[in-house]
Amino acid sequence: MSDGAADGKGVAVRLDKVSFSYGEALFAFDVGFTATQITAIMGPSGSGKSTLLNLVAGFETPRSGRVLIGTADVGGDPPAMRPVSMVFQENNLFAHLSVQQNVGLGRSPSLRLTEADHADIAGALARTGLAGKEKRLPRELSGGERQRVALARVLVRDRPVLLLDEPFASLGPALRDDMLDLVASLHAERGMTVLFVTHQPQDARRIAQKVVFLDNGTIAATGTSEDFFAGAGPEAFRRYIGAGA
Ligand code: ADP
Ligand code: MG
Repeated sequence: MSDGAADGKGVAVRLDKVSFSYGEALFAFDVGFTATQITAIMGPSGSGKSTLLNLVAGFETPRSGRVLIGTADVGGDPPAMRPVSMVFQENNLFAHLSVQQNVGLGRSPSLRLTEADHADIAGALARTGLAGKEKRLPRELSGGERQRVALARVLVRDRPVLLLDEPFASLGPALRDDMLDLVASLHAERGMTVLFVTHQPQDARRIAQKVVFLDNGTIAATGTSEDFFAGAGPEAFRRYIGAGA
């Protein structure tokens, strides 16, 4: 297991007394995510999982409190400036751009790429099993391949924090395991701090070391996945996973 910031890139993420609202929907997040670990963020639909990631990514701005990545308060930074990459459930790709270009965007938003960039892109495509598909458009790929392209883009973007918002929820179980194992091995190689939103207890159990359980816009419980999946978590969490989530 990757535990240390041997390469100096491991950073913790902290929401420090963050409050936020969408009209009537209120959120209060005070929680830290351990550097270089994978934390599963779980909780019922509407509990605020995507909102939490969007606050870290900078797609939403807290009403009060601070968002810290490492020691930096990134609260005022636009998403592109933050040391994060994000993969969504779907619509990660630009439909009119090839696989190679979609991955290249991770390196340069204007696709002005050097030879070294092209070499890194080729490496990321090989690593994610996409060699030979460089020229394809997203509509010419399977759902699993499209999510691989999104992961290849994360690799060339090379940021220390990875935000995954139910990235494999639309895939079947076998393909999902395959993708989770890919995430776990990328994580082991790079030591990224990963916030992994999932509804699937077996997926969290497969790759996450920590669990953060949300309920109704707040952090209801946190713990190690070892404890939580051995049944040592709070009653509400046991009920949640027992209900098949
Ligand atoms: P989750 O990802 O856990 O399902 P979300 O963070 O997406 O939950 O949403 C939490 C709550 O905030 C929900 O009640 C949802 O309806 C509301 N919400 C989410 N996004 C928006 C938005 N852009 N505008 C207004 N309300 C929103
Ligand atoms: Mg969501």
